[in-house]
Amino acid sequence: LPEPGVVALTGPDVAGRLPRPGAESNKYRRGVIGVVAGSDRFTGAAVLAVAGAVRAGAGLVRFAGAAEPVRQVRARWPEAVTAVVSPGEDVKDVGRVQAWVVGPGMGTDDDAHALAASALAAGVPALVDADGLTLAARDRSLLRRAAPTLITPHTGELGRLLGVPADEIEARRLYYARRAAAELGVTVLLKGSTTLVAEEGGPVRVNLTGTPWLATGGTGDVLAGIAGAYLAGGLSALDAASCAAYVHGLAGRAAAGGPGGGEAPIAALDIARELPGAIRS
Ligand code: AMP
Ligand code: MG
Repeated sequence: LPEPGVVALTGPDVAGRLPRPGAESNKYRRGVIGVVAGSDRFTGAAVLAVAGAVRAGAGLVRFAGAAEPVRQVRARWPEAVTAVVSPGEDVKDVGRVQAWVVGPGMGTDDDAHALAASALAAGVPALVDADGLTLAARDRSLLRRAAPTLITPHTGELGRLLGVPADEIEARRLYYARRAAAELGVTVLLKGSTTLVAEEGGPVRVNLTGTPWLATGGTGDVLAGIAGAYLAGGLSALDAASCAAYVHGLAGRAAAGGPGGGEAPIAALDIARELPGAIRS
């Protein structure tokens, strides 16, 4: 920076776009997010994505998944409405949602594919992350949707999606973020030490609020929940991604920062805990 076609996200940019409930708000107007995440093998991703969505201010979080992640989500987040979805069932039965988050920890087998496909068939905005992106690398039709689609890959996930080695992506992140947006017709949030948000025809937004302490398991799952809550709240995919990256980075810094000014390791759930303070600031 500075570079043509690239803008850095600022606090005022984000503060002006964050959803705020009006006096006449109700939970449905604030946004109902549906989360499809976790599996009997990986339950944590489900809890973390729900944590991000609840703490980012979703009106209501609906969670659909296998029996074990549903048990974990119910135990950790009583605020969420949960439904066990068995293989072959449609997530539509979970109830109406205004945006779906699909992917963290859901696995990549045929049942996961069917579950992802049923959520992504809905005519509402969707965020695809993690295993959802691995599924989409094998079946790109998952990303061909009428409604806006936001993908949130790290370098490796974007590499798989584009059929390009991860180190090649790492060497030219701006180029590949733009190329993925154009080639796939989606909004791209490319994770890493800085986060890039790209959409065809516009400048790439760069987020600089993070800390290297974010490089730990589960932080991306929390980010997916935050961005999904903003999508459900009515932000465009570009603004949802930008605001989520910004407040996630701020919350990560707050979690890592100690009273003496030094920093220390964080756990992914700490980000959710620090989110309200980050949003307030
Ligand atoms: P994931 O790869 O899905 O677990 O997501 C990791 C999260 O941590 C993303 O929000 C990344 O942008 C962030 N992150 C990873 N490494 C770094 C780093 N070195 N500096 C700042 N943020 C990072
Ligand atoms: Mg991830």
